Amino acid sequence: MTEFTVVIIGRPNVGKSTLFNRLVGKRLAIVDDTPGVTRDRREGSGKISDLRFRVIDTAGLEDATDHSLEARMRRQTEMALEEADLAFFLIDARAGVTPLDEHFAGVLRKAKTPVTLLANKCEGRAGQPGLHEAFRLGLGEPVPVSAEHGEGMSDLYDVIREAKELWTGGDESGVESEEDFEDRLEKFLAENEDGELDAEALEAAFAAEAAPRKMKLTIVGRPNVGKSTLINRLIDSDRLLTGPEAGITRDSIALDWTWKGRPMELVDTAGLRKRARVSEKVERLSAADTQRAVRFSHVVILLLDAADMLEKQDLTIARQVLEEGRALIIAANKWDAVDDRQEALQKLRDRILRSLPQAKGVPVTTVSALRGQRVDALLDMAFDVYDLWNTRVPTSALNNWLADNVEAHPPPLANGRRIKLRYVTQAKTRPPTFVLFASVPESLPDSYHRYLINSLRETFNLPGIPLRLYVRRGK
Ligand code: GDP
Ligand code: GDP
Repeated sequence: MTEFTVVIIGRPNVGKSTLFNRLVGKRLAIVDDTPGVTRDRREGSGKISDLRFRVIDTAGLEDATDHSLEARMRRQTEMALEEADLAFFLIDARAGVTPLDEHFAGVLRKAKTPVTLLANKCEGRAGQPGLHEAFRLGLGEPVPVSAEHGEGMSDLYDVIREAKELWTGGDESGVESEEDFEDRLEKFLAENEDGELDAEALEAAFAAEAAPRKMKLTIVGRPNVGKSTLINRLIDSDRLLTGPEAGITRDSIALDWTWKGRPMELVDTAGLRKRARVSEKVERLSAADTQRAVRFSHVVILLLDAADMLEKQDLTIARQVLEEGRALIIAANKWDAVDDRQEALQKLRDRILRSLPQAKGVPVTTVSALRGQRVDALLDMAFDVYDLWNTRVPTSALNNWLADNVEAHPPPLANGRRIKLRYVTQAKTRPPTFVLFASVPESLPDSYHRYLINSLRETFNLPGIPLRLYVRRGK
């Protein structure tokens, strides 16, 4: 399998090898001789938090002796870019932008490979002028880092993740996308087109799933609703949490914990928000930012400000979370500042009912991040919905349910003949996804489809989490 590859480019002494060592650590896997180049090129498997990628350090290529420096640089850059999916172009912020940097930038501006400009040696204040100067290289906003001191790594995490996502169209949370599942389902059905549907084969094809992994939790919401306050509150409440695990610092994007004996990861999207603020100058969480946050996670807490709950943007985020098949919790923060709590809660519930029918049964709670009230209850709630989201209903119970339903609410007629519902199975969890085999699936009305989903929800006690039901032709 080809691996996502990051190449580190820049003139000598900007800190390429130092950055390489920081990303690769001791995991230096390969040192290969590249024909035509006098020196070894180093590559290895890089890692920031849970993110893995291949890194190429071009520092070794600098010592070729038979051309001008500029010609060598150009060749080095072009070769490396050919292989890379993302380029980190380093400058030394302490030294400022040099003519050689400008020369590099000219080559990189024309490259097809995405380039991120890194202003290295930015620890302390000595890098500030160089950082500002770097804008004029025409490669976008420079990311300040210090390879030597490990600063800015969470920003690099964001950059790599984003590029990698575009590259794979993938998902780092381990949750299968709807598209991938549908592909898998269609493939299975095509392979079994003519045969009788074999329940065992079906289960074997779909049931192979890893046991529930640690819960990945994200907190999203509009600016100023109190996300950072809540995250800090969670981090500080050592009486409730053991960890965070050694080696993971506050500015890192994912914090590992154990909560009441269960593993979890708090995915802090603060980095995303910080960047959005800088580049857009308006404080809003874009759809893409939410999408990214959602893709990190299993359970999403949508945090609201009790003073103005469920604005249009909140509703959009909630819908997006459910559409992505993640478990959702709606939490109204700053509850300490609310006068009439009963009225406020009723208002919130009414709005959810009216504006978010797809969120029926989604857990709704109130917190005060500032005072630390109900913060532990919020985590308990997150684990509860996580468990629901991982629910597996036995096939026998499902088929009993189907038989009961067919009797109580027979499906409608299609061309004068009753649609037969033959067999149902749960194809996967995360979120619970069911496949129902019917005689003429295309004739089954949406209303009946919705009825079945609601009935599944009630019968198997699956409130508030996204459920999917695919209806396919089957004998
Ligand atoms: P390369 O030639 O681009 O591979 O650069 P190196 O990684 O060999 O680094 C060149 C010099 O810059 C070395 O003395 C490093 O210790 C120093 N250096 C690298 N990164 C940093 C940094 O973040 N801050 C400071 N102050 N020095 C750094
Ligand atoms: P973020 O932009 O969503 O990360 O929001 P912040 O965590 O920065 O909080 C925005 C403002 O709301 C800050 O002034 C907080 O002190 C305040 N705030 C956060 N949580 C609460 C709360 O539970 N009660 C009250 N009264 N204020 C809060």
